[in-house]
Amino acid sequence: MTKKSKKSPKVFTLVIVPHSQKQSRSVSVSLNTVYAVCAVLLAVILTITGYRAYTDHITRRNLETAVSQSSSLKRDKQHIAELSEELLINVSQLSAENSVLADGYDSLKQELEQTETQVDALIAQAGDVISRLEKLSDSESEIRRQIGLGGGNEGKGGAVIHAYAVGENMSLADKLDYAKYLVGSIAQHIEYAEQNWSELRTDIENYYSSLEYIPHVWPVSDSKSVITSGYGLRSDPFSDGGYEYHEGIDIADEYGTAILASASGIVSFAGWDGGFGYSIVIDHGNGYKTKYSHCAKLLVAKGTEVAQGAKIALMGSSGRSTGSHLDFRVYRDGKSLNPMDLLDKARSKEG
Ligand SMILES: [Zn+2]
Repeated sequence: MTKKSKKSPKVFTLVIVPHSQKQSRSVSVSLNTVYAVCAVLLAVILTITGYRAYTDHITRRNLETAVSQSSSLKRDKQHIAELSEELLINVSQLSAENSVLADGYDSLKQELEQTETQVDALIAQAGDVISRLEKLSDSESEIRRQIGLGGGNEGKGGAVIHAYAVGENMSLADKLDYAKYLVGSIAQHIEYAEQNWSELRTDIENYYSSLEYIPHVWPVSDSKSVITSGYGLRSDPFSDGGYEYHEGIDIADEYGTAILASASGIVSFAGWDGGFGYSIVIDHGNGYKTKYSHCAKLLVAKGTEVAQGAKIALMGSSGRSTGSHLDFRVYRDGKSLNPMDLLDKARSKEG
């Protein structure tokens, strides 16, 4: 294809010459048309270039965004990894702490169990102490009964301990409270017991000092002496077939055996008393008097203060008597008593 100008400068003629035998062909194109075609081509090129530039820009922007997102993702991933590591550390620390706590709980539980065992033992011991204290209180009452002493802790409102069995479901705190109550009660009970025993001691001392003035000492020094006549109704040795009420006891022993004051007192009579022969009467106070008859010799005079067991006369057979013996009588408020109810039985020999 070639461009050829003909007559007019404003027109281009395009002649097409084939390589065959065929006729050439020519085409005429105006300059304006060429301009227009060039303009269109330019516009197309510009448009394509602009579009390319635009799409390049978009792509680049997308790429940049992707790159930035990718790096942000990378950072997030790293952060997550760090967090995970931290979490792992925390978990292992927690696990360690938990095992320490578990150990602590176990030892605490053990300690509590030991404490509970000790509290149980304490309660059992307290129960034992209480029953022993109660036995002590019983024996105090028994001693009083045996001696014939009144009083004592009965009716005085001694410590009353309400001991009860420890239930299976009783909490440790309740057990501790109960143990405290028992210990407090024991202390109170002991206080009462101390008071009661101290009162008993005083009562016994008073009792023994009062015994000094109650005729109970065997009135003959020789323990071989024999009772030849008891207290009460008996046949009269001086009237055939007759009876008399014997208001004393006859104790036979060798002539000259020592006769002893059965209790402390003051001699209210010492001398001859008819059928009783040489006699002594001692006033012991509290209404008690004793009389010692048929003596061989009197060793004290009226008004003499004599101690319990003191030698006051010698045995004989003066007055209405059939042999060496002592007629011993005890009076209370003027009435005769059976001396055997008062005398120390261990020293007597009934014959
Ligand atoms: Zn007699």
